[in-house]
Amino acid sequence: MLKVTFRFYEELNDFLPKYRRKADFEAMFKGKRSIKDMIESFGVPHTEVDLILVDGKSVDFNYILQDKDRVSVYPVFEFLNITKVTHLRKIPLRRNKFIADINLGNIVKYMRALGFDLFYDSLLSTREIIEISKRENRIILTKDSKLLKFKDVSHGIYIHTGTTIEQIRRILNYLDIKDDIKPFSRCLQCNTLLDVVPKDKILDRIPPMTKEFCDKYVQCRSCDKIYWEGTHFINMKKVIKQILA
Ligand SMILES: [Zn+2]
Repeated sequence: MLKVTFRFYEELNDFLPKYRRKADFEAMFKGKRSIKDMIESFGVPHTEVDLILVDGKSVDFNYILQDKDRVSVYPVFEFLNITKVTHLRKIPLRRNKFIADINLGNIVKYMRALGFDLFYDSLLSTREIIEISKRENRIILTKDSKLLKFKDVSHGIYIHTGTTIEQIRRILNYLDIKDDIKPFSRCLQCNTLLDVVPKDKILDRIPPMTKEFCDKYVQCRSCDKIYWEGTHFINMKKVIKQILA
């Protein structure tokens, strides 16, 4: 029998049963086991883990556990300087594109309002979400930690329960993508980019009152929907301000 001591830090504890949270605990096992398997066997999805130290040295997910190892497992750091150690997700996606699971309908229009490419379809199965994520290099956003444990999921973020604002903040902080925000550049309904459209081209499609006060319009390249700075837009701006506060 091999004996290994584990300790999980910060929000990774949310995945553990109470008696294992924020404390050292021992695991006994036979044979060869990778550190990734072991971590996931405790209920922590590998996509949530950013750094693993064994006896103070960083290792990757393939590390095979040895007798008497002392393992510390960390989530993404936001403030600590850990430039000298191995991050587990060194291969960033070229662009941040997302796919949300069906329980995250609440964040869709706000993520799109911030300009992020977020695929969402409430009818998708778990398998379909994973397939689309692989095919289109999309980061999976999910409230289901089991989904992140599938072997072929490489990029995913577990979204804790919370307000829409808290959930979106978590995504932006986790990936450090606040600088990539392009407000109101994408269709809230179909996720396609918007183009500026001259007012006289769409006169017949604007309510008379709107025509009076608004001169700037944008139109979706795909579904044709027209947007302008009306009441809805102003409410949306307020929420975005809170997200970024
Ligand atoms: Zn559209």
